Amino acid sequence: MSNSSVKIGVLALQGAIEEHVQATKLALKSLGIEGEVLWIKKPEHLEGIQGLIIPGGESTVMGRLMETSGLLEAIKKFAKEGRPILGTCSGMVLLAREVYDRVVGKTGQPTLKLMDITVERNAFGRQGESFERDLEIPLLGEKKFKGVFIRAPIIQSMGGNVKPLCHINGKIVAAQQNNILATSFHPELAEDTRLHEFFLKKATEK
Ligand code: GLN
Repeated sequence: MSNSSVKIGVLALQGAIEEHVQATKLALKSLGIEGEVLWIKKPEHLEGIQGLIIPGGESTVMGRLMETSGLLEAIKKFAKEGRPILGTCSGMVLLAREVYDRVVGKTGQPTLKLMDITVERNAFGRQGESFERDLEIPLLGEKKFKGVFIRAPIIQSMGGNVKPLCHINGKIVAAQQNNILATSFHPELAEDTRLHEFFLKKATEK
């Protein structure tokens, strides 16, 4: 596949969309790949897209909009074709097979169920609503990665096919299952494009 045709989509129903667009553009530049980053609002926008980012925001709102727009089914199909997806924060919640809230328990919200993980929403409680932490992510090299956590979820349990990529205080905050990647934190706010670069390499490898 020629590099000039790379098209990456950012789900653009709600949330931190433009931050991901900018981070992805910087990552493309740093890898020397020509490409476009497009807003995905309807199922037909996924045509020709090689990788999809599901941003942070409000997972209940985003999930409902995904259902009514037909994107819930379209994104499932997208993933089953082996195309990569990166979900950050709310995006992680939306990828999960099962979700519960730290306070209210099972949420019953619509999710893609593309990752064999159980996610706890708002897992850091009020004290930890928003914080930054230098993270060790061996996949990205030795240099620490700035983790920006905003009402972040954690992976509470997972199936054998899921590979944990990063922990804080014994909690899993990033993981990968084949073509699906999820982080509790916001890599688009890290001023460090290594995670987006890793994702782009997956999206462009053939
Ligand atoms: N707490 C939000 C949710 O569960 C996620 C917050 C975020 O994406 N920054 O959807």
